[in-house]
Amino acid sequence: MTSFYYGTPEPLHWEDEILFIHYLKDRVGKTIHSYEHYLIDEALLTPVNLDCFNCHLVHGQNCCEGGQPYSMEGTNLEEFRKHAFAILERHTSTDRIRLARQKGLFEKSAATNFYPSIRAHEGDCLFLIKDNGQHVCAIHRYALENKLDPGRIKPFSCSLFPLELIEYDGKILVTALTPETDSFSRWGDFYLDRYSCVNHKNRPSTAADSHFAKEGYTPAWEWSKGLLRSYWGEETVQEMEKVLYSKLPH
Ligand code: SF4
Repeated sequence: MTSFYYGTPEPLHWEDEILFIHYLKDRVGKTIHSYEHYLIDEALLTPVNLDCFNCHLVHGQNCCEGGQPYSMEGTNLEEFRKHAFAILERHTSTDRIRLARQKGLFEKSAATNFYPSIRAHEGDCLFLIKDNGQHVCAIHRYALENKLDPGRIKPFSCSLFPLELIEYDGKILVTALTPETDSFSRWGDFYLDRYSCVNHKNRPSTAADSHFAKEGYTPAWEWSKGLLRSYWGEETVQEMEKVLYSKLPH
């Protein structure tokens, strides 16, 4: 039986799949609860602070820099294709437009697990732009300007972080990046070891008080449930939330 990272065509590597199945076996019925075909993990309550605009200032690099997104599929891919060149023309430079026209929007390489991913430009994702010292996703900016849902156009995985969704045996595990899920998650331990958003211990002592402030950490679920609502509908997400919060000690 093969497991997939939801929102991409990518299966888990067999070693990751073994760790994933062990994780499920240890927790289903204890800290992982069922609703329809969803498996809702209490790990979704892990505190997170996606203070993305201050990430570059605190860490010298944000998570989009030096990388490419996961591959897309389904309606996400269709929506992206529909708008991609309009985004490049509106928010990027002629060299990027020329590159995409000549070589295509996507490329496959060892860095993309040989799945088609948005092409890199000077080492970063083709759609990562700089504006007043901030690193910004051109797709996200374009979506907001045009009153479109960014989660429908940007690669699903880019909007998903810090959640993790894995399809397996007709079910979907809905969890978050934690020290226990990093061994099989698409995110690995790169973020846990490096970024303050998912690990407050990574916050440098020199960081300004307002950057990744302690009071800004709220459950991972709260940051990404809007994305799930956009794909699975309001009612499903509400029911999942009821299951999740009803398991908290009163
Ligand atoms: S698509 Fe946007 S969010 Fe995703 S890696 Fe590129 S710049 Fe970052």
